[in-house]
Amino acid sequence: MLKEIDHLGIAISNLDEGVRLYKDLLGFDLEGYEEVEDQMVKVAMLNAHGKTPNIELLEPTSSDSPIYKFIEKKGEGIHHIALGVENIEEVLERLKKEGVRVIDEVPRMGAGGKKIAFLHPKSTKGVLIELCEKQSE
Ligand code: ZN
Repeated sequence: MLKEIDHLGIAISNLDEGVRLYKDLLGFDLEGYEEVEDQMVKVAMLNAHGKTPNIELLEPTSSDSPIYKFIEKKGEGIHHIALGVENIEEVLERLKKEGVRVIDEVPRMGAGGKKIAFLHPKSTKGVLIELCEKQSE
C-alpha cells in the first residue's frame, strides 16, 4: 500500500558540493551520511525540517556503480523517485502479476536499513521508481 513519496534520488559527482547546495544554500537539514556498498555509492540524506520527501544525494564510489553510469550517460540530476509503501513484498508481487517489469525480483537492503526494490523504467513511463519500506516505525 502506498504511503508517501519517501525521497527523490539525485545523482551527483561530488557529495560535498551537493550538501553545500542543499544544506548551506537551500536550507535543508542534513540527516546523515551512509555508504551503500552493493550499489557503490555514498549517500547524504536531507530533508526540509523532518518532512518527506527526503532528498537522497548519491555519489558513485566506483566506475562500476550504476550511478556512475547514469552520470556518464545523462549527467547529474534526478535519478529516481522512491515511494514509501507498506508490505513491500506484497506490492512487488501484485505489480509483477500485472506485468510490470522489475529490476529487483525480491526486496533488498538499501540506505537507512530500508527494504527497497526498483521497478524497470521501461514499465514506468521512463521514470525509475524505487519502492521502499521502513523497517521500524
Ligand atoms: Zn533511493
